[in-house]
Amino acid sequence: MSAIPRTVYEEEHELFRSSVKKFLETEAAPYHAQWEKDGQVDRALWLKAGEQGFLSPSVKEEYGGVGVDFRYNAIVDEECGRSGFTGIGWGLHSDIAVPYIERYGSEEQKQKYLPKCVSGEIVMAIAMTEPAAGSDLQGIKTTAVKDGDDYIINGSKTFITNGQHADLVIVVAKTDPTAGAKGISLFLLEAGAPGFEKGKNLEKIGLKAQDTSELFFQDVRVSKDQLLGEEGMGFIYMMQDLPQERLNVSIIAIANAESILEQTVNYVKERNAFGKSIATFQNTQFKLAELETQVSVARVFLDRCLELHIEHKFDSVMAAKAKLMTTDLQCKVIDECLQLHGGYGFMWEYPVARAFADSRVQRIYAGTNEVMKLIIGRDLLK
Ligand SMILES: Cc1cc2nc3c(=O)[nH]c(=O)nc-3n(C[C@H](O)[C@H](O)[C@H](O)COP(=O)(O)OP(=O)(O)OC[C@H]3O[C@@H](n4cnc5c(N)ncnc54)[C@H](O)[C@@H]3O)c2cc1C
Repeated sequence: MSAIPRTVYEEEHELFRSSVKKFLETEAAPYHAQWEKDGQVDRALWLKAGEQGFLSPSVKEEYGGVGVDFRYNAIVDEECGRSGFTGIGWGLHSDIAVPYIERYGSEEQKQKYLPKCVSGEIVMAIAMTEPAAGSDLQGIKTTAVKDGDDYIINGSKTFITNGQHADLVIVVAKTDPTAGAKGISLFLLEAGAPGFEKGKNLEKIGLKAQDTSELFFQDVRVSKDQLLGEEGMGFIYMMQDLPQERLNVSIIAIANAESILEQTVNYVKERNAFGKSIATFQNTQFKLAELETQVSVARVFLDRCLELHIEHKFDSVMAAKAKLMTTDLQCKVIDECLQLHGGYGFMWEYPVARAFADSRVQRIYAGTNEVMKLIIGRDLLK
């Protein structure tokens, strides 16, 4: 098949990719269907991934990592996206939550937490969303009120990825409810802290093996040492880190779309109707041609985004465009591919059916695609 060669990765990245692929085949493929029934992956998977260096590979050596660039994270994301093992919450941990400690943590926090984040002994989550505030983050109600050298946290969060497994949660709370965005701070909250309760594992239409939870905080006392970065800077930190979160989602989107498209090409060659292969119908060929063209264009754009991110030139507007385009395309590709599978496409045992359910949320989390349009529109019209 003709394809524009990828130039973003080097030989050592591809070697790393082979080991991630092999690991997923042996350690995830045989168990993922059971994890979907369990509502979460086996916790041992995290420790095994840590041993292989798949968790937070960009963490510096002095904190237990290997100190490599984000392309290694991207390879883990691509292989998870390609395989459809959507229960694995490594991306949220490695690309989204752990980097907050790397960037804004005190020396003491880095030494205490980062080595265990790399080994898989600590699973991280980030808790921004609340029952009454998602897109409008400034509308959160969780508070952290100063009490001597401590803060007292009260409130609740919902839809938190890795919520059941999480040992350490970044909690977004208001330290000054009168100060708008400047009144928001981040706290590192350990599981088991008195007053911190994990709610039920939420039942979802997709990502069935991924634990997603409510979290409750009732008079949770944390010392000021658990404040992440400076008080009042939480909103700014989140805005700075969102491009990497949106890149993570985009990388998974295109890897998954490519994989489902490839599987569909194989399927239509094998399936017959009216005495011939459905691959011979012009509709099949036209549909696949359109999807392949769009995915190829998206791949080149996304690889360029990844290069810009490595060069620290990937900004929030570029990230919004990438997230909007790739996740819309992922859902379109999967919907069309499901149609080409006929009734089999509706059966859970077929990867395209799972992908249909799993991909839908990609347009919702990490900022909805409507919010992405707001960011792009504001930039155009400023
Ligand atoms: C499976 C899953 C995992 C998640 N993981 C996490 C996590 O780990 N941590 C975390 O903090 N959150 C997480 N979330 C929450 C997610 O980020 C939010 O659901 C998302 O930001 C949308 O917020 P909301 O659900 O409150 O929707 P709302 O903000 O209520 O939006 C409802 C609708 O209104 C639209 N809308 C809102 N504002 C505007 C506007 N100004 N203009 C136009 N349209 C608008 C939205 O686009 C959407 O269509 C997760 C969600 C899911 C489903």
